[in-house]
Amino acid sequence: NSPLVRIRDLQMHFPIYSGLFRRQTGAVKAVDGVSFDIQRGETLGLVGESGCGKSTCGRAVLRLYDITGGTVEIDGVEISQTSQSDLRAMRPTMQMVFQDPQASLNPRMTVEAIIREPLDEHTKLSKDEKAAKVAELMDAVGLNRAFAKRYPHAFSGGQRQRIGIARALALNPKFIVCDEPIAALDVSIQAQVVNLLEDLQEQFGLTYLFISHDLSMVRHIANRIAVMYLGKVVELAPRGSLYDAPLHPYTRALLSAVPEPDPSKAQTRQRVVLQGDVPSPANPPQGCNFCTRCPAVMDVCKRIDPTFQEVEPGRFVACHLYENHASETEKAEAHAN
Ligand code: SF4
Ligand code: MG
Repeated sequence: NSPLVRIRDLQMHFPIYSGLFRRQTGAVKAVDGVSFDIQRGETLGLVGESGCGKSTCGRAVLRLYDITGGTVEIDGVEISQTSQSDLRAMRPTMQMVFQDPQASLNPRMTVEAIIREPLDEHTKLSKDEKAAKVAELMDAVGLNRAFAKRYPHAFSGGQRQRIGIARALALNPKFIVCDEPIAALDVSIQAQVVNLLEDLQEQFGLTYLFISHDLSMVRHIANRIAVMYLGKVVELAPRGSLYDAPLHPYTRALLSAVPEPDPSKAQTRQRVVLQGDVPSPANPPQGCNFCTRCPAVMDVCKRIDPTFQEVEPGRFVACHLYENHASETEKAEAHAN
């Protein structure tokens, strides 16, 4: 059973130009060597603070950009070098739900026209067949069919996100990148949209890459979670092991700020406050990207970039505490910090 999505060493660098002749003087390494699989029917959560590269990663996986390096395989097809015109034929398979439904919906189109647009572009369905499909999609996402002729501004944020989801579903995709789909919504509406996404996943056999900065929310929807810091995935683990026993010092720090629902575990959790700011992705530190802020930093961390590797079955981490470059004494001291 091959994974639906397989990315290896994905890089998305944006050139920086400066000076009179606009020469390239550097690059913002927004995504810098990311590898993971997403199994069919799975939700992979991709978490990290704003600016860590998670949205760029999601867009690069869908090839909304020409990527700098690495490979992207969707359903067995390698698309890292595929031209945008050839990608068009694959668009139906892979879709995106955006953070801000307000900005992603054309205000001059009716709901019906918005949901129908992908059908117009990619199918040869008759007018009646399209109308029937639009009605079906509105039902599936819980929008009243009577509102089909209204414009996006007449809807609440939650309803607008339902319109965006219906549109994403129009071509029967297999894979959907959900980029902070609830971050712009009222807290009271967030759970409804998450539940809807879960129901639709089951109903249509969807696979999700679910991008979010909110660890307590991702816990509810993701089967496995990848944690990003400064353009790299630093840890990837099944939800249970990640929350119960995070391995990477950055994951530990992030999770220490998340309220623990189970009171028996809450007492053992210490709040870790990270010092300093996230370095610029145009100028990441030597060695481990986290070495300027890591409470467990060792000498080796400033020289050698740790390898992202499987340290227990199904658990991946990029950190010298789990490699052999540091001595056992060093590691023991670092763990104690
Ligand atoms: Fe911290 Fe070193 Fe591990 Fe990086 S490699 S996270 S600096 S202990
Ligand atoms: Mg983002």
